[in-house]
Amino acid sequence: MTEPLGYRFCPRCGKPLDSRVLKTGEPPRLVCSACAFIFFLDPKIATGVVFAYGGGILLVQRAIHPSYGKWVFPGGYVDRGETLEAAAVREVREESGLAVRLTRLLGVYSFPGNPVIVVAYAGDVTGGSLRIDEESLAVRSFPPAEIPWDQLAFPSTVQVLKDYLQLVAAH
Ligand SMILES: [Zn+2]
Repeated sequence: MTEPLGYRFCPRCGKPLDSRVLKTGEPPRLVCSACAFIFFLDPKIATGVVFAYGGGILLVQRAIHPSYGKWVFPGGYVDRGETLEAAAVREVREESGLAVRLTRLLGVYSFPGNPVIVVAYAGDVTGGSLRIDEESLAVRSFPPAEIPWDQLAFPSTVQVLKDYLQLVAAH
């Protein structure tokens, strides 16, 4: 059997993990050979905010892998126990220095084979001052006609920005 993501040892007791089909129709699970602990490889939840700033949509250019050098709206992973809304606002603050208020849910985005589920919000800037953090090469506002569609970081980024522009156009 393959070793999904290379996890080989039980996080509880340290003995080897086996890959086993526990239920027909579901993917194989990593099961501990000694203590029967099941290591579920759950999806990861990311969240972010699309908002207008300086005459365009604010995007950050990633200085980290994956998608190094590509553009994405400010966002990141939700911490365990953190609300989606708090995580979205926190990520914007960390990545751009700006304070935002969430105005509505844009959508929830998932793709086959991709462990990341993205929850995207639209928002308004309420304060703060623009700065760049160490996870970004640049931060820039793109008027809709200048969005770098072929330089966006993730499949979700394309879909989220399309949905945001459609929403703005409808108002
Ligand atoms: Zn174990």
